[in-house]
Amino acid sequence: MWWFQSPKIVFGEDALEVLKDLEGKKVFIVTDKTVRSLGYVDMVSNYLKEAGMDIEVFDGVEPELPIENVMEGAKLIRKFAPDWIVGLGGGSCMDAAKAIWAVYERPDIKLEGISPLVELGLRKKARLICIPTTSGTGSEASWAAVITNKKEHFKLEVASREFYPDLSIVDPKLAVEIPKKLTADSGIDVLITAVEAYVNQWRNDFADAMAIKAIQLTVRYLPRAYENKNDLEAREKMHYAATMAGMAFSNSQVGVAHAMGHSFGAVFKIPHGRATAVFFPYSIEFGVKEAGERYAEIAKTIGIEAESVEEAVEKLVGTIKDLMKKIGEPLSVKEMEIKWEDYHQKLDELVAKAGMSTCNFLNPRVASNEELRKLFTYAFDGRTIDF
Ligand SMILES: [Zn+2]
Repeated sequence: MWWFQSPKIVFGEDALEVLKDLEGKKVFIVTDKTVRSLGYVDMVSNYLKEAGMDIEVFDGVEPELPIENVMEGAKLIRKFAPDWIVGLGGGSCMDAAKAIWAVYERPDIKLEGISPLVELGLRKKARLICIPTTSGTGSEASWAAVITNKKEHFKLEVASREFYPDLSIVDPKLAVEIPKKLTADSGIDVLITAVEAYVNQWRNDFADAMAIKAIQLTVRYLPRAYENKNDLEAREKMHYAATMAGMAFSNSQVGVAHAMGHSFGAVFKIPHGRATAVFFPYSIEFGVKEAGERYAEIAKTIGIEAESVEEAVEKLVGTIKDLMKKIGEPLSVKEMEIKWEDYHQKLDELVAKAGMSTCNFLNPRVASNEELRKLFTYAFDGRTIDF
């Protein structure tokens, strides 16, 4: 038995208008200051007011979602007692909404205790809406939330079937102001997520469909969205690709690039997409022994012609590296202005944290600590290795 779960998704031009007909009394909006300054909070609030809602806004979410933000939001939400929660923004805002919601409904449980195996019994007090303003994490369509423990430098990856929003609004007009660097960092994450969803041990036919479409859209439209901010077609397609990748991975899983990216991002304070992308090409070279055919299928669907599986995978890695170059993503840790001495000093920590990640256990080929060390080491200056 397997599941395919997804929120109800409203997408396309003027999708936000669906909020006018929302039924309820009070909405708690979880967002950040940038999103607020772009006028999106007002835009959403105006529709909610038409629906007769009382609104409270928590705009204290910071990048990479520190756990302290969740606790701060939880205090406010308890006082306000809403029947709807809206996560409005990038992955951090939507993940914050999920985590704040969980604490609101279940003050008795600890965040680290949340897992797909634990029944939370959410939706007794409120329901969740997610509205992405970046085209990246796919949190609007996923069961996951990533929270950073800054003190102990690790990322808490929590997931629950109950975390799927009741409604996700994927309105491309909210994706037009994404800055160039964020377009690249979050856009490459869409590709990594979709590729890893397609090859990992929990892959399945339903998730595959979403993954392949997300890969095709990203390869085609990400360079265009990056090059030209005003290419609205590219922005729109990337916005949908992100949601599709979210649906793919949360009904499947991700893999070792994410395990390494979470570890590296937490230790060196690097944004998620960028931290993960730098290991992506190497993770494919590593996974090819177990998932060569799957990578070759991906290559074929994006128009790569090859005589053998090996050739297809090699060309796929080449295409990904070219795409990363085009959008300014570093292909080695060295290019991120990190010194070898500092990196080497943290190597044990990087390996230990990546080794504990569920993303690694579900990679088509599970990396031992020794292999992770090799992967981290070679990604430093971008050498290709033979695994
Ligand atoms: Zn990701």
